[in-house]
Amino acid sequence: MRDIIGNIEIRAIEELFINIHPIQPGGRLTPEAMKALISYGDGYSTCDWCRKPFRLDKIRRPPIEEFHVKLAEFLGMDQVRVVPGARRGFQAVVSSMIEKGDSVIVSSLAHYTEFLAVEAAKGVVKEVPLNENHVITGENTAKKIEEVKKETGVFPKLIMMDHFDYMLGNEHDVRGVARVAKDYGIPFMYNGAYTIGVMPVNGREIGADFLVGSGHKSFASPAPSGILATTEEWSDRVFRTTQMVGDVTKRKFGIKEVEMMGCTLMGATLIAMMASFSTIKERVKHWDKEVEKINYFVKEFLKIQGNKVMSELPRKHTLTKLDTRGSFDKIAQTHKRRGFFFSDELKKRKIVGEFVGATKTWKMNTYGLTWNQIRYLAQALQDIARKYNIDVA
Ligand SMILES: *Cc1c(COP(=O)(O)O)cnc(C)c1O
Repeated sequence: MRDIIGNIEIRAIEELFINIHPIQPGGRLTPEAMKALISYGDGYSTCDWCRKPFRLDKIRRPPIEEFHVKLAEFLGMDQVRVVPGARRGFQAVVSSMIEKGDSVIVSSLAHYTEFLAVEAAKGVVKEVPLNENHVITGENTAKKIEEVKKETGVFPKLIMMDHFDYMLGNEHDVRGVARVAKDYGIPFMYNGAYTIGVMPVNGREIGADFLVGSGHKSFASPAPSGILATTEEWSDRVFRTTQMVGDVTKRKFGIKEVEMMGCTLMGATLIAMMASFSTIKERVKHWDKEVEKINYFVKEFLKIQGNKVMSELPRKHTLTKLDTRGSFDKIAQTHKRRGFFFSDELKKRKIVGEFVGATKTWKMNTYGLTWNQIRYLAQALQDIARKYNIDVA
């Protein structure tokens, strides 16, 4: 059997291959999440036991309310909601915090969804430049804030910063940025799309006013899912309830939250997140092992003549950007399959997830691979190099 129905093929990438896709590994489902998907797949399945006051995060069976409390504790924050992706978390924060024309400080490596969240709220992004190590510092953030003040006459209304960026997987000084935010009295949103669910994250300890995470990026959850957490100070603002009254019917909808459109993840998506939560709580304790594995891989990768790593070294994250212009790309220049020769060779060795056809600079993510898989992966790249007469030290 190859198809679910018609030409919708069965996806078995994770079963048949070693997958090094940059954005997929942290969202790979747990067996429990898969069970939840099947059992709660029907549309409004979580609404069976919904009782007054009729809001998703108040449902007690299955224990959705308890999950919200425990998740907030786990993140060192006071209030949490689930949202359809980190991007919807950004959107809720930005649209609550800024007005038309306001400036929002972001990273020079900010994700496009942060740009869109600001654009949707009619704000303006102001990017903090990277330092010589391609890292955002508190100092550069403070400089940018002063520049914005000089240029526009007012301070920025919000700072959004990615702990690890999606381009290089470098770690940025979010604690330093949080201190600067506090000094200037500007609210600070921590973007944990690449951290929440794979490594320990504590918002209180970081000094964040908002934490945003991605279920399908890093929390072993289906798409679209994400997390928005905040402190008591800001929760009334970002989770404000509806005030609207119908002019004919005089109807009001009480505790429905405006930014959440009332209820968010009403079925299998949320129950799958909940089903993965115990695995998540355990796996974040072993982040150091994941970092060890990527650093082993990088060491072996650099033995191939001409290879470079564009991300900071040593690696602090499993997402890593590689540069093979001095090795595999030279082969691609004259190979009849051009850049595809490299994907062909990887696929033959049951490795997928690199950007197909790319031999110049490309990203990979080793999160969740076993030591055997890591060693196999490193050897596979060295084998391909030797096959094309590239020196391996
Ligand atoms: C993936 C990613 C996002 C978007 O996350 P979604 O959950 O898909 O909305 C935002 N920011 C960064 C840094 C990311 O890597």
